[in-house]
Amino acid sequence: LRKTSVQDLLRSTDLDREVLVKGWVRTRRGNKYVQFIAVNDGSGFNSIQVVANAEQFPEEKLKADGVENGAAIAVRGQLVASQGKGQTVEIQATEITVYGSADTAEYPLQKKGHTLEFLREIAHLRPRTNTFGAVLRIRHAMAFAVHQYFNDHGYFYVHTPIITGSDAEGAGQMFRVTTLPEQNPPLDEAGHVDYKQDFFGKATNLTVSGQLEGELAAMALGKIYTFGPTFRAENSNTARHLAEFWMIEPEVAFNDLQDNMDLAEDFLRSLVRYALAHCPDDLQFLNDQYDKELLARLQFVVDNDFKRLTYTEAVEILKSAKQKFEFPVDWGTDLQSEHERYLVEKHFKKPVILTNYPKDIKAFYMKLDDDGRTVRAMDVLFPGIGEIIGGSQREEDLQKLRTRMQEMHVPEEDLWWYLDTRRYGSAPHAGFGLGFERLILFVTGMGNIRDVIPFPRFPKSAEF
Ligand code: ATP
Ligand code: MG
Ligand code: MG
Ligand code: MG
Repeated sequence: LRKTSVQDLLRSTDLDREVLVKGWVRTRRGNKYVQFIAVNDGSGFNSIQVVANAEQFPEEKLKADGVENGAAIAVRGQLVASQGKGQTVEIQATEITVYGSADTAEYPLQKKGHTLEFLREIAHLRPRTNTFGAVLRIRHAMAFAVHQYFNDHGYFYVHTPIITGSDAEGAGQMFRVTTLPEQNPPLDEAGHVDYKQDFFGKATNLTVSGQLEGELAAMALGKIYTFGPTFRAENSNTARHLAEFWMIEPEVAFNDLQDNMDLAEDFLRSLVRYALAHCPDDLQFLNDQYDKELLARLQFVVDNDFKRLTYTEAVEILKSAKQKFEFPVDWGTDLQSEHERYLVEKHFKKPVILTNYPKDIKAFYMKLDDDGRTVRAMDVLFPGIGEIIGGSQREEDLQKLRTRMQEMHVPEEDLWWYLDTRRYGSAPHAGFGLGFERLILFVTGMGNIRDVIPFPRFPKSAEF
């Protein structure tokens, strides 16, 4: 007899047959006549109810064998129709095998619910909870939907380097990767450690974005995307920044800023639609447990256009807003998440795409507008999140790009290969970066980015 997944059994209409299921005990309860054991194998949100008759399985024996919350067991029995509320089938047990019990006195996951803060302290066990099971399954579904969307639309998945010499954002948030010895490292002329020697004569760091390499690929394959781990030495302890996160970066030849906005909007909307269609149990649980507006908010995004306006228009709105902001807004300063959320949640009450930011607060590669003051940037802002996507049309003109690099102190010798895209067959192109965890934050309604990645890395994160 081969084992069947819990979800397959719950969906089964083929009753009164012998089945074998393997999973973990979520709860055991009952009386001296009958015991009910909820078994979950991770295959979905719902557990299957195992009915253990006291004649064969007295409560004392179950206890002695360790059939308790957290134990790993195998159950053989008859799959039968259930009288129980909220379930159509259950298993009438004939044999229960314990692989590994969990001492109920010591097991950190008790039957009572736990706070998300507490679960963060036992991050190594939290995937076993209903909440993290739901989040991780939704995360999987979203990753799959990303690949499916791009594949269906003719994009090629390109792997860009994790260890690289380039700093696409120029924001000084790189993690250095070095093979230099701690004792007697090579020194530069000023007597400092010569990090240009990091890896046998070349400076190296973990990638902060795959964009620059992605542009090289787009100039050959036309439509590409990357989807990989991204590293930023953020020392900000916000609920929206991680030091290690995943980013999705499409890059498209012959696209302009309008095309880029259309893509971002269609892409986000299809991902949310996918979640609604494929994760109903997990979403319903999160909606009921944490955020009663979650499902309505997701449906709203699917059904409504995003508001598009320029940075300059947004600054006018923010300046005349009645709300008091912690940071004042002035043309030329970057918006804080309080400003972004005001626009989305209070003013427009829908997702917003802001465009044409001042060039001084954006990266060197964005296409200069005709006024010479702004660039063809776009940020997509979402309720509860703020910035979920940052993107732009890229500067395709070699001379303008070189001028921008000089203004922003980006050394040309490090990016000679990038400049070659503008030397040979340069074409207009555009792309963006979607922070995968910010997407999962939105789709799950969770409030903290540390709760939507299995193994979070942030300043002072202790584990893993
Ligand atoms: P923010 O303003 O929130 O710091 P950013 O403008 O620095 O973000 P970009 O360089 O535009 O970020 O990166 C593209 C996307 O990657 C962002 O829109 C966001 O969704 C995501 N992202 C950026 N930094 C982080 C981070 N530290 N943790 C998780 N996601 C991030
Ligand atoms: Mg940032
Ligand atoms: Mg930003
Ligand atoms: Mg950005």
